[in-house]
Amino acid sequence: METATGKFTVAEKPEGLEGAGFFATRLDKVVGLARKNSIWPLPFATSCCGIEFMATMGAHYDLARFGSERLSFSPRQADLLMVMGTIAKKMGPVLRQVYEQMAEPRWVISVGACASSGGIFDTYSVLQGIDRIIPVDVYVPGCPPRPEQIIDGVMKIQHLVETESLRRRDSPEYKAMLNKFGIE
Ligand code: SF4
Repeated sequence: METATGKFTVAEKPEGLEGAGFFATRLDKVVGLARKNSIWPLPFATSCCGIEFMATMGAHYDLARFGSERLSFSPRQADLLMVMGTIAKKMGPVLRQVYEQMAEPRWVISVGACASSGGIFDTYSVLQGIDRIIPVDVYVPGCPPRPEQIIDGVMKIQHLVETESLRRRDSPEYKAMLNKFGIE
């Protein structure tokens, strides 16, 4: 579509039945479509991977193309926790509290080697992966990952968001998964 400020693409409509003057689809597909294209990330950036994220937000890579330009520094107004950088064990409880303050549905990306596994910091003071304290949906490898990789991770999250069942968060399996992390 052409506008005064340039071209933009419109999100594809979900599968459904259509004819002259009507279109019918399932509620979960519409909700998935809306959520997928309006993810609000909370950047939890502690070190160098956060700089790559800044590049991802800049004009060249422009995460706004994915509907995610509205960053939230309040967990209560975010649905995607992006953990980027080395997480010291002292920082663990803070990260955990941020996760717990986010409303459902919420997703988590672990960006880079440090957040995913402690990276090169195999030491007494560094958490050896954030999945020891909170569940992670997508891992982005690299030290640091390039912005393209971060965007790839966001697109994988978008796929999860779009296809997730609306009932998943109320399921006993989901509650059991959270309980494994000691989260009620
Ligand atoms: S993964 Fe590498 S670039 Fe990212 S925070 Fe760790 S040391 Fe820095």
